Amino acid sequence: MAEEQKKEVIGNAVSDCKDLKCPVHGSVKVRGNMFEGIAIRAKAPKTVIVERYLMQHVRKYERYKKVRSRITAHKPDCIQVAIGDKVRIGETRKLSKTKSFVVMEVLK
Ligand SMILES: [Zn+2]
Repeated sequence: MAEEQKKEVIGNAVSDCKDLKCPVHGSVKVRGNMFEGIAIRAKAPKTVIVERYLMQHVRKYERYKKVRSRITAHKPDCIQVAIGDKVRIGETRKLSKTKSFVVMEVLK
């Protein structure tokens, strides 16, 4: 889709972050897994969908296959993410029905 191609910025970075689900300013603790992926979609406010590709070994054929993984992650107020950015996400407690990860930083 064409709207995914353009560089779209999701929200603005605010200095006084009052987001309770922010790992730095809020009460959410990051523990467990930490992943790096590309922010591909942001239809819902304060949410990004992070996509990453994994190589999975298939024992029967002794080869690898490419597996796509998409994770919905919470985007705190103090972080500015654009579509196509590489982000690091960390696992937290369940933040909503689909979110249990939070964006920690944008990688350059
Ligand atoms: Zn914050």
